[in-house]
Amino acid sequence: MSALIKPSGTRNLRLLFKQLHAVRAICVSSKCYTDDHAQKPKSSAEHYDIIIGGGGLVGTALAVALGKNKVLNDKRILLLEGAPPFRGFNVEAQYGNRVSAINNNSVELFQSIGAWDYMEERRVKHVKQMQVWDACSDALIKFQDEHFAADVACIIENDLMLDALYAQLADNTNTQNVEVRNNSRIEGVQLSVDTGDKYSQVHLKDGKTLTCELLIGADGANSLVRKQMNIDVFSLEYQRRGVVATVQLEDPCDNTVAWQRFLPTGPVALLPLSDTLSSVVWSTTIPHAKHLLELSEADFTKALNEAFFQGIPQEWSCCQCNEYIKFDYWT
Ligand SMILES: Cc1cc2nc3c(=O)[nH]c(=O)nc-3n(C[C@H](O)[C@H](O)[C@H](O)COP(=O)(O)OP(=O)(O)OC[C@H]3O[C@@H](n4cnc5c(N)ncnc54)[C@H](O)[C@@H]3O)c2cc1C
Repeated sequence: MSALIKPSGTRNLRLLFKQLHAVRAICVSSKCYTDDHAQKPKSSAEHYDIIIGGGGLVGTALAVALGKNKVLNDKRILLLEGAPPFRGFNVEAQYGNRVSAINNNSVELFQSIGAWDYMEERRVKHVKQMQVWDACSDALIKFQDEHFAADVACIIENDLMLDALYAQLADNTNTQNVEVRNNSRIEGVQLSVDTGDKYSQVHLKDGKTLTCELLIGADGANSLVRKQMNIDVFSLEYQRRGVVATVQLEDPCDNTVAWQRFLPTGPVALLPLSDTLSSVVWSTTIPHAKHLLELSEADFTKALNEAFFQGIPQEWSCCQCNEYIKFDYWT
């Protein structure tokens, strides 16, 4: 990588990742689904065919996809989100720190539900190559299409993806059967499969109870719906935190490569946003993450350049490398 990184006035660091979960599944209580239309309490405003718990990227994308599915046209679908209404995305504003590298399958999904053009018209960075390498060995892998013809990924701000999805829901010509309720936190769930009742019940923080035939949990890493469905997950606290930032490149360039270097303390990634800006996702030990957050912009930039460029003696074992990195940053 030839570009050096210098601080942008827009840098805004945040500490992320309390605990990473190996499984972030959508939990579907398919057992409570019924085709018995005659017995549905259609007149009740509090009954839905499908309730999606959680209006993040997964829940909102699913709500749009289900709403646009002609087979489900006669189904009442409810998207329940605990937070206030989404604040929207402003293309004139600085880049957000929360961005995602999405693969071509996700692009196709967005295209199929009509959300892609909205994003493309604002700001999507097309990535032609991903280069991942190890700091303690010669191991290196590159992902690219032949002659860089096709993208290997696209980098998009999470807020832009959400904005595009909510725009689809707002334009209810195709999603009129989808209702969105904000400030509606799920506090408890009783599944029909457990109670023997015809419908599953969803209890909200405001005291309301809703019923549904199909309940989908899209309420994030610590999903309450998943817990109440007794779905096992394997999770591991591996004492790492992620630091995210937006940095400015020293010289403008095509900036179509996503870089990731595996340091003994964890991977650091540089994802292109524009010809002059990249997004940083730096996973590292908890003390080191705290240390990074306390650095001045100039010192953070120096540490980031070292993380990408500094040689680490190959004869060091990973354990020794760990000490090496710590010593280097903390003195
Ligand atoms: C630093 C970082 C970088 C990442 N980079 C990438 C990447 O490059 N590519 C990629 O594919 N993924 C990436 N990910 C992962 C990706 O961001 C997540 O997998 C994705 O955002 C999860 O979306 P979600 O909708 O399942 O959950 P969330 O975004 O957590 O949304 C859950 C929603 O449910 C709501 N909710 C929670 N509990 C309740 C409740 N009880 N009642 C009602 N609503 C509730 C919340 O308010 C929230 O809106 C990254 C993650 C991080 C932290």
